[in-house]
Amino acid sequence: MTSPEAARDALLPLARPVLGEAEAAAVQRVLRTGWVSQGPEVAAFEAEFAAAVGAPHACAVASGTAALHLALRGVGVGPGDEVITVSHSFVATAASVRHCGALPVFVDVDPATGNLDPRCLAPAVTVATRAILCVHQLGMPCDLEAIADFAAAHGLPLVEDAACAVGSAIRWRGVWTRIGRPHGHVACFSFHGRKVLTTGEGGMVTTADPALDARLRRWRSHGVSLPADVRHAASQVAIESYPEPGFNYRLSDLQAAVGREQLRRLAAIVARRRELAARYDAALRGVAAIAPPREPAWARSNWQSYAVRLAVGLDPRQVMQRLLDAGIATRPGVTCAHREGAFPAGTWRCGGDPDGCAGEPGACRHLAASEEAQARSIQLPLFPDMHDDDPRRVVAALERACA
Ligand SMILES: *Cc1c(COP(=O)(O)O)cnc(C)c1O
Repeated sequence: MTSPEAARDALLPLARPVLGEAEAAAVQRVLRTGWVSQGPEVAAFEAEFAAAVGAPHACAVASGTAALHLALRGVGVGPGDEVITVSHSFVATAASVRHCGALPVFVDVDPATGNLDPRCLAPAVTVATRAILCVHQLGMPCDLEAIADFAAAHGLPLVEDAACAVGSAIRWRGVWTRIGRPHGHVACFSFHGRKVLTTGEGGMVTTADPALDARLRRWRSHGVSLPADVRHAASQVAIESYPEPGFNYRLSDLQAAVGREQLRRLAAIVARRRELAARYDAALRGVAAIAPPREPAWARSNWQSYAVRLAVGLDPRQVMQRLLDAGIATRPGVTCAHREGAFPAGTWRCGGDPDGCAGEPGACRHLAASEEAQARSIQLPLFPDMHDDDPRRVVAALERACA
């Protein structure tokens, strides 16, 4: 008999970050300088991140949620406004709209990719629409060309929730480009431990608009006119002012030092994740009960997560329990915000119906593809130092669990 401890040690986890000696040494190096808050390491991380994704400006912040809040505020979203987005995302996407005092207007997803279906945008627009917030769900780029064209035609700023998508790429007007360039007005990243590049907690906002970048930099640090590192470096006495209220959404230099090391690993991490996803695809070929995720020809995912869809009639909770009993950790499909207690009626609107959905609580006929994707998907383990044979082993266990 194996002990419960041994069983837990043998558990194949869902995810594990790639953190090594380089990150440990970077933290030590910064600790010894005595400057641990936002300073030169953050500035260097921003410059290196901007170069890595091909963005003119990058502003580091405390989290992906902070990035989304500032980005939406930065493009002018405020109380009374509507922001068109997806319900089928991590709750932070829709919550960031409400942090601005605005109303999230949910549109459905393309069942093939789980990403915003551009055909759903037109019926969602009203006079109150102030921005579009699209999501590159689980690292898979959404149909940016169609969404950006729609946004431009309606004079709406486009914010990308790229929380999961560092290292992903998209063919844009015929040329392969990195997510984060940005392709809309602003792109927002997260560096939470579950993301492909991690600083523990952290985020980044990229933009091509220097005035917007300057606003974000003030707002992340209490609205201050002069950042502390600039003040310290000045040879003349410099006294800051606070022309408007802001937040404390700063990333620390300790985190930024980790982020710089993570950036050096990014290409190798993404290559390894794509190799493992291909192994899953191969193992799933011909397995009728389980559909692999689909990557459009114009997209290259970083495979932040690998979510499969179970055949109708299978109970994902039961399948997940059987996998756990077999020593394999999984996660359910991406949530739908409109089905969570945090989003009761009146705090969101359905983009398919200007009068809202008067249906059952937690269900909306206009968000059927979103609800179906949530109900039938499960996420499988995928992390760079898993064994080459693990995808085949997981699929074999999954087939047994579905039998
Ligand atoms: C992780 C995530 C966020 C939030 O990022 P945090 O850094 O945890 O605040 C937002 N949107 C999506 C799609 C995410 O996956």
